Amino acid sequence: MSGLHKCGSIMITGASRGIGLQLVETLMNSSSRPGMVIAAARDCSRAKELTKLAESHPDLHIVTLDVTNKDDIEAAFEKVESLVGDKGLNCLVNNAGIYVKSTLNEVTAEGMMKNYEVNAVSPLMVTKAFLPLLRKAANQETGMGIHRAAIINISSILGSIQLIWGESTHVIGYAYNTSKAALNMVTRSLSFDLSGEGILCVSLHPGWVKTDMGGPQAHLTKEESITGILNVMSDLSEKDNGGYVSYTGEILPW
Ligand code: NDP
Repeated sequence: MSGLHKCGSIMITGASRGIGLQLVETLMNSSSRPGMVIAAARDCSRAKELTKLAESHPDLHIVTLDVTNKDDIEAAFEKVESLVGDKGLNCLVNNAGIYVKSTLNEVTAEGMMKNYEVNAVSPLMVTKAFLPLLRKAANQETGMGIHRAAIINISSILGSIQLIWGESTHVIGYAYNTSKAALNMVTRSLSFDLSGEGILCVSLHPGWVKTDMGGPQAHLTKEESITGILNVMSDLSEKDNGGYVSYTGEILPW
């Protein structure tokens, strides 16, 4: 986690609870935290823990952002632009996500579209909107990593087409799994398009985590997952660009 202070600014979507909130909390309590932490939540009036955290950390900035809402994205961009100024944004973590339960019996077209909208389309639209700020940051550094400009798409091992097979199969959920497979393609495509500008993009699997989404049976506490996530993020460099990596640092098969 030691490299985090090299990141001038970081923005995390879906920071009202679960992995996003824990990520913000851990960063705020870390001695080696990025210069500026921006937590995005779709309904700040319901994000009680996040607003409480901001009361004890006046340097934590909260922005309203429903990642599916174009007006929200535009307004969030303006607010973040005014916060980061000429330095730009060094790291965008597309964490907001939903899980629509969808076995073969349950799956519906609406469920597929909703999951796809939040988990695959929105990270791309948010990234596209924030590109001017990532570019601004990228223009001021060399190399690749969170010290310069990085997009971290919080994916899932359930998006791995190769691992949905045989004994390694975890859960078949048509809507969620396909949305994360699509997000992985978004990652790969962004890394192809943006690497020339020094902007890195990876898909990161946080592990199976005890959150509202992961449920109480999950293997990891939020703290364990976040420790791994931050270690991986701190070490990201050119060799990781366009990759699909677990919170342990293990490279995952697409
Ligand atoms: P939670 O359900 O605990 O939290 C989801 C977060 O996403 C909440 O902050 C929620 O906000 C936010 N969110 C959902 N929809 C939107 C939206 N339209 N706009 C803005 N924010 C939104 O999930 P986790 O914390 O467990 O998951 C975080 C990420 O990690 C997700 O992308 C998930 O797919 C991924 N992941 C999680 C795993 C796990 O085991 N937990 C495993 C693998 C991947 P609100 O409070 O307003 O609803």
